[in-house]
Amino acid sequence: MGNPKALISGASIAGLSTAFWLGKAGWDVTVIERAEAFRDGGQNIDVRGAAREVLRKMGLEDQVRARTTTEKGTAFVNGQGEVVGAFPVEGSDGLTAELEILRGDLARIVLDALPAGVNIRYGERIESVSDPGDYVQVALRSGATETYDLLIIAEGVRSKTRELVFAEEVSRRELQLNIAYGTIARTPEDDDWWRWYTATEKRQVCLRPDNQGTIRAMLAYGSERSIADLSPDQARSELRDIFAGAGWQTDRVIEGFSTSQDVYFDYLTQIKMPDWSKKRVCVTGDAAWCVTPLGGGGSSLALIGGYVLAAFLSQSSDESSTSTQKADNLNISEALDRYEKWMRPIVDDAQKLPPGTPDLFYPRTKMGVGTIRTVIRIASFGPLRKVASRMGHVARTKRELPEIRLVQTKS
Ligand SMILES: Cc1cc2nc3c(=O)[nH]c(=O)nc-3n(C[C@H](O)[C@H](O)[C@H](O)COP(=O)(O)OP(=O)(O)OC[C@H]3O[C@@H](n4cnc5c(N)ncnc54)[C@H](O)[C@@H]3O)c2cc1C
Repeated sequence: MGNPKALISGASIAGLSTAFWLGKAGWDVTVIERAEAFRDGGQNIDVRGAAREVLRKMGLEDQVRARTTTEKGTAFVNGQGEVVGAFPVEGSDGLTAELEILRGDLARIVLDALPAGVNIRYGERIESVSDPGDYVQVALRSGATETYDLLIIAEGVRSKTRELVFAEEVSRRELQLNIAYGTIARTPEDDDWWRWYTATEKRQVCLRPDNQGTIRAMLAYGSERSIADLSPDQARSELRDIFAGAGWQTDRVIEGFSTSQDVYFDYLTQIKMPDWSKKRVCVTGDAAWCVTPLGGGGSSLALIGGYVLAAFLSQSSDESSTSTQKADNLNISEALDRYEKWMRPIVDDAQKLPPGTPDLFYPRTKMGVGTIRTVIRIASFGPLRKVASRMGHVARTKRELPEIRLVQTKS
């Protein structure tokens, strides 16, 4: 029998982290990605908590540090752009984390570090899955039928393959918040702070620096209707209507989004599942536990999930096969149980939102906006600032990461 074979569907942070570690653990790994080419889009994300340790183990911490967005901290501003309260980078996990990076940069760093032999195919997706127990078989869009020891679904929050296998077991908590992210031109007046503006009628506008001489903007608003279901043109038009008269730099962002190529729309939805695996299929990353940017830490959990899953799978062959894993003596179901047991507590923690979220942070009235600004002003002073910065504490655990058994691979 040869090395065990895994198919990973989705080539973003979760899928690539899993491919990195499983490849190093001696598995034959194939990754398929629905997009026709590597997706390097996306805005500011961060690496927090145990994900920093995973990055260190990958040997990629310095590369990430060299590509951070250079953000100096988070400043809440009023309609005139005056700072109401500021939270500079302090320690590793404040509102602005020490390791802030563009999503595409992080994904590219992991992609470039994949061990030799990991096979990636773009423009491919799964049409059907059959899982008799001894193996898992997939029918692909290209017409091929392939057999693996394990299928790992890392397709993000709106995963289609997850629906094929887990269907009714997926519950969604819609947070009734739309977000649009996009890149706009930088002007001499911009600085290197994350500037955050709250307007009436449940609207927020953010501007953040990047390492590419542009500005990453975000518009968020409370709504019972998903903007992600609209066409990009319809979504832009909705943003124009909703944000009319919101103040501060909103008109500039709306204008910038009308020509920006990479505007990304999301209707924030948490994913909850009672089990993350069934026989020889498992889910990881946002497909399994999307926390949304309100919970924060989605990319960190994706990095950690890839490591933890591969670590328990690497321990699942018997001790006699140390140099390379063999498909015929794997205990996959035990490994998947251990992966889930290890990940559940930090995922549950990240999915717990502070009481009143998101309504408290998205006020409708001028009075509500005034109250938020007063709270921020007080929270930004002295010791209280440290307490407020704890909102950035996600993906933390006192537990050691599980050990992973690696085999010699070329990278
Ligand atoms: C292009 C892009 C831009 C993003 N921008 C931001 C952002 O600005 N801010 C933010 O907070 N988060 C953003 N995200 C989400 C963020 O990456 C995730 O929340 C987090 O990193 C967890 O990653 P994930 O790998 O679990 O899921 P995702 O990053 O969502 O990746 C899922 C991957 O699976 C692929 N895929 C989906 N369906 C299929 C299918 N049926 N078959 C094969 N492949 C499939 C997708 O194309 C994608 O590459 C973005 C994601 C993407 C893909």
